[in-house]
Amino acid sequence: MTYRGRFAPSPTGPLHFGSLVSALASWLDARAHRGAWLVRVEDIDGPRTVPGAAKDILATLERFGMHADEPPVWQSTRTARYQQALEQLKAAGMIYPCGCTRKEIADSLLNAHARNTTLAYPGTCRDGLHGKPARAWRLRVPDGDSAVITFEDRWQGKQTQNLATEVGDFVLKRADDQWAYQLAVVVDDAEACITHIVRGADLMDSTARQIYLQRCLGVPTPEYLHVPVVTNEQGEKLSKQNGATALDIDKPLEALCAAAQHLGLDLESAAAHTTLDGFYAAATAAWAKRMGLPAA
Ligand code: GLU
Repeated sequence: MTYRGRFAPSPTGPLHFGSLVSALASWLDARAHRGAWLVRVEDIDGPRTVPGAAKDILATLERFGMHADEPPVWQSTRTARYQQALEQLKAAGMIYPCGCTRKEIADSLLNAHARNTTLAYPGTCRDGLHGKPARAWRLRVPDGDSAVITFEDRWQGKQTQNLATEVGDFVLKRADDQWAYQLAVVVDDAEACITHIVRGADLMDSTARQIYLQRCLGVPTPEYLHVPVVTNEQGEKLSKQNGATALDIDKPLEALCAAAQHLGLDLESAAAHTTLDGFYAAATAAWAKRMGLPAA
């Protein structure tokens, strides 16, 4: 197997400590496997993309010594591929147009909550639009036992999700005409022949959907590893939205040592590492040990 990993930031702001942890974990796993490490800019969510943020993230990664093995891929250039995948699923009868508004879905979820039943999309438009205009495209999820997706996460262990009761038919193309993250990530990981996905545990909940979508499109399922997310004092995931500050690009070693510590890596103190190369050699060895991999 030729290991191919990636880091896939959304350019909604500069790289912050939480995203550095994901970048570092994916980088170390690729190095520990002597594999390739790629970067993909996930800039398809027009409304959330901040101008200049992608270039800033790429420059920070370089400054921190994480050099990608291939030129970065920009999702905004790949919409024709997403359309092709949608057509493939349409031809196979796996997707359907949905006319539900946000309010209708929110109301049905509130009702479900009140009745203590499932919070999944109830499948209102499965059998037709009921005279409503088409807004989004949804993937039909299976019923019964086939709805249960199980996978082994390399960090968190065995994971199970029932797509029918916990998620429901999910959106691949949104009502505002934007491509959904779930479709783009699966198409792009498959096309880049990604074998190992290492990312934050906030994306764990999306993984079963992605595995199901891989099966529908007939592409391989990579290995998954979800690292613990960094939280603020209120216990919320650190994000650009809740005020995570940009990294100090003049102090890469300090930030990298803190990120390695968050990953539970057994390293000497930041002061012991005076060069990025020295840090990466020690961190890669510690990662390999932590993950039970042969020393690189
Ligand atoms: N773009 C996503 C994010 O920044 C990550 C996607 C992924 O790693 O699958 O949260």
